[in-house]
Amino acid sequence: DPLDKERPLNANSPAARDVRHVLHGYVELKAQRESLPTVITAGEGIYVKDENGTPYIEAASGMWCTSLGFGEEELVEAAAEQMRKLPYYHTVGYKSVNPAIDLAEKLAEMAPIKDARVYFALSGSEANDALVKFIRYYNNAVGRPQKKKFIARHNGYHGATVATTSLTGIPINHVAFDLPLPGFLHTTDPHYLHHAHAGETREAFAERLARELDEMIEKEGPDTVAAFMAEPITGAGGVIIPPEPYYEKVQEVLKKHDVLFLDDEVVNGIWRTGKLWGAETMGIAPDTMTVAKGLTSAYQPLSALILSDEIYRGMEKGSLGVGFFAHGQTYSGHPVSCAVALKVLEIIETRDIGGHVGRVSPTFARRLQKLGEHPLVGDVRCKGLIGAVEFVADKKTGRLFDPSGVVARRIKERAESAYKLITRNVPSGDSIAFSPPLIITESEIDEVFDRFEKAVNDVMGELAREGAIAA
Ligand code: PLP
Repeated sequence: DPLDKERPLNANSPAARDVRHVLHGYVELKAQRESLPTVITAGEGIYVKDENGTPYIEAASGMWCTSLGFGEEELVEAAAEQMRKLPYYHTVGYKSVNPAIDLAEKLAEMAPIKDARVYFALSGSEANDALVKFIRYYNNAVGRPQKKKFIARHNGYHGATVATTSLTGIPINHVAFDLPLPGFLHTTDPHYLHHAHAGETREAFAERLARELDEMIEKEGPDTVAAFMAEPITGAGGVIIPPEPYYEKVQEVLKKHDVLFLDDEVVNGIWRTGKLWGAETMGIAPDTMTVAKGLTSAYQPLSALILSDEIYRGMEKGSLGVGFFAHGQTYSGHPVSCAVALKVLEIIETRDIGGHVGRVSPTFARRLQKLGEHPLVGDVRCKGLIGAVEFVADKKTGRLFDPSGVVARRIKERAESAYKLITRNVPSGDSIAFSPPLIITESEIDEVFDRFEKAVNDVMGELAREGAIAA
């Protein structure tokens, strides 16, 4: 296999050694052997540096997570202090640790769920996976063992475990992994540009999607459907912001059929959408919330699953029935992760990060809207400091590129290689997402979009020369 030959380039560089031994997620494995990764070695504020010392703007916050930016000493100190005091103890059985107690109390105060209970895991996937188990346990406990199906949405992303890949509605996550599991269904994603019928208003579109959900539940049998899971604003699946009155109508449908609303706040939560929770931004009263990413600004892995009192009490009843709640993890409530999260929440309050997002997000929105005027752009979407731009083959008709994704990937790569700007491709036509650290300033936002526009114009020039679009 010629790909197995030693690279002529410095074969002992970190990048070359990476290619020999690190299995990466979300790559074409064979192409990966030929393309060296960018090895990131340092970070400060909204910037990261590669191994040659070249700075990049991180306009995606890594994986939508480094909300307070890089090099935040107070977080480093909080972790070190906790490690010195108690690097580890667990919350299994009848043991606990102070940082987990403090954080659970704080999250229960912050969540729009009365008398909430909090379960800790280490990633968004693990928390959502635990949630699937907890909802099963709950419905068994309250005497309706047939109420077990989960409905999520096409293009929603909820994780990478077997159960959470099943909740995820992105086809490429399913094919070749024999997923989704039975009992996991998907309804239309609320992306108006892609799914509206000709002449359909945004409002009529929102109402139709809620009706479709109603019909799906009726067809499956309301007694068999346990829960509906959604990100208030779909993140990784394309930054999709449903038009009103989508959530109002969806919640009416769920109430009617006694189906729980499981709110995935992994990307939306902690001020990303301009309010503390995506639920607040979008008018949702959830039964559960999953929080991760921005909770620790990614300085430590941590996720929190916030459950309503009703669900918790049901589970408690079950535990009395079967005698035991047989679920737990070595690192649940890890004191170092919880100490870092507590410090993140403290910084958010003392530095008024929510207020800062409110002050800078109009600049973010203005620069995205300006991009919307570009001949290659068919749609822009944003709330707070999450946004996306979608490129189309024909601006007038909204015709998408076919095959989809190639143009966005090319623009993303150009922005990174030529202009040192990191963004994220999202699998919604040809979309590129922005979710910069929440500490970004207005002039830094301008810098992000100045660099991005250059990349868009470069690629547009190339597409015109190649005859892929009208010159
Ligand atoms: N839920 C949402 C909305 C996400 O965006 C992600 C990850 O991107 C997850 C869950 C899974 O989180 P993790 O990658 O930490 O397992």
